[in-house]
Amino acid sequence: MTHGGDTIFGKIIRREIPAQIVYETENVLAFRDISPVAPTHILLIPKKPISALSEASAADKELLGELMLEAAEIARREGLDKDGYRVVTNIGANAGQTVFHLHLHIIGGRPFQWPPG
Ligand code: AMP
Repeated sequence: MTHGGDTIFGKIIRREIPAQIVYETENVLAFRDISPVAPTHILLIPKKPISALSEASAADKELLGELMLEAAEIARREGLDKDGYRVVTNIGANAGQTVFHLHLHIIGGRPFQWPPG
């Protein structure tokens, strides 16, 4: 897996390409997925360019906690918590990861299958 390389999400963080940003702090950024798979589909990323969850380290403990708590807060603000929603992170080829900058998919607004396809 590639490390520290620049990605399209790095360009979004630096405002080099546009995105529908819904939330930002010093450490994290959330924006709407360009190709939504559900009525609500938001990507939440750390600004630090960690390529995937598998590449995070103990030094990222606080940042990962912040991401999880912010995911729940964004879902609440989007009105997803009543009916439920899913938070997913894809890692590597079998999971279909296409952008090598850690991101949580926050998806909701319809029922989902389990197990996923
Ligand atoms: P993954 O397959 O888990 O790596 O997810 C990458 C996600 O990034 C996909 O759902 C894409 O639709 C989304 N995506 C790719 N480029 C952009 C972009 N420029 N703005 C917003 N979302 C994007």
